[in-house]
Amino acid sequence: MKQYDYLIVGAGLYGAVFAHEAKKAGKRCLVIDKRDHIAGNIYTESVEGIHVHRYGAHIFHTNNKAVWQYVNQFAEFNRYTNSPVANYHGEIYNLPFNMNTFNKMWGVVTPAEAKAKIEQQRAEAGITEPKNLEEQAISLVGTDIYEKLIKGYTGKQWGRPCTELPAFIIKRLPVRFTYDDNYFNALYQGIPNGGYTAMVEKMLDGVEIELGVDYLARKAELDKLADQIVYTGPVDAYFDYKLGALQYRSVRFETEVLDTDNYQGNAVVNYTDAETPYTRIIEHKHFEFGTQPKTVISREYSAEWKKGDEPYYPVNDEKNGALYAAYKQLADAEPGVIFGGRLGEYKYYDMDKVIEVALSVAEKELAE
Ligand SMILES: Cc1cc2nc3c(=O)[nH]c(=O)nc-3n(C[C@H](O)[C@H](O)[C@H](O)COP(=O)(O)OP(=O)(O)OC[C@H]3O[C@@H](n4cnc5c(N)ncnc54)[C@H](O)[C@@H]3O)c2cc1C
Repeated sequence: MKQYDYLIVGAGLYGAVFAHEAKKAGKRCLVIDKRDHIAGNIYTESVEGIHVHRYGAHIFHTNNKAVWQYVNQFAEFNRYTNSPVANYHGEIYNLPFNMNTFNKMWGVVTPAEAKAKIEQQRAEAGITEPKNLEEQAISLVGTDIYEKLIKGYTGKQWGRPCTELPAFIIKRLPVRFTYDDNYFNALYQGIPNGGYTAMVEKMLDGVEIELGVDYLARKAELDKLADQIVYTGPVDAYFDYKLGALQYRSVRFETEVLDTDNYQGNAVVNYTDAETPYTRIIEHKHFEFGTQPKTVISREYSAEWKKGDEPYYPVNDEKNGALYAAYKQLADAEPGVIFGGRLGEYKYYDMDKVIEVALSVAEKELAE
């Protein structure tokens, strides 16, 4: 008999949910992570008493009541509502595009006036079949919003001008004809009081954890410890990149402690001009209505990804889709290994979706 029923590779949200469920079902689990902390990319660390989201700002939002109840077992969530603002050369606009944005942009007051303005700009542009992202955006929201709020930001995000980006990237744009600055349409939204790391710590309560362990570097030895492996690392790395490397978009964060209690008055400010080199500034304390004397900000720079960098966003194009499909075949044929999570499935998952899928895989697995 092996020492553990499950060796769970990765102490991120997927690994933590699976481990919690397996432990509850009486299974013996070991969770390992190559990083020196738990919680994967939702890790928050305390700096000046502020919970800093080290791998990018994370706002929990879901329409799934069961998932909302599930996370509330491990943390109490505050009432944070994501309402980013856009800074275009010092002019401030509310996001997502809504009546507050239109009022600031054009002075319009009613939804009918806003719709008429957008329609007029669409018609003036005369685009019938958008050939690129620029034409697509103008035909959806008109020239002013495109020029001030989309052009520079999207160009920085993708590292290319909008005229060189395919139209399909923004098939639809969220446009709201109400005075509602809530970015998400989700029924439930918030930030766990005490940060995400404390929430994951609770999920992993009573589970054995070893940090600073790279599974792939010690695979043969670690495999001997457990009957089953749950692998949440990159699927291509598992197979030693033998079919080639999957591509990602990366983000570089520049984090700074500032000697002021309030730097920008909002958690998220998007810099939508092309000249400012970063895309956003996150001021972490505002996620939890912090009153600390100092503040911590992170400037986000969109970055091309190369092997060795932190992989963030999978690239959903044909080439990478086909490559992942080939790796998925290998993964499906790999005995005794469950591949899961954003890296194991090469998929952009919001947190609620990762929980949903980890719970459903655990339920099936643990019933067997
Ligand atoms: C910039 C950014 C912002 C986001 N914002 C939001 C948001 O606002 N709201 C939202 O709902 N979602 C957001 N997400 C998505 C969220 O981050 C994911 O849903 C979640 O982190 C996925 O959890 P996971 O367990 O699949 O992956 P991860 O958190 O990446 O966990 C995988 C773990 O496996 C470990 N690992 C990998 N390889 C090995 C190995 N060989 N040996 C040992 N350990 C290994 C890694 O170190 C990592 O800790 C965002 C994502 C990004 C990139």
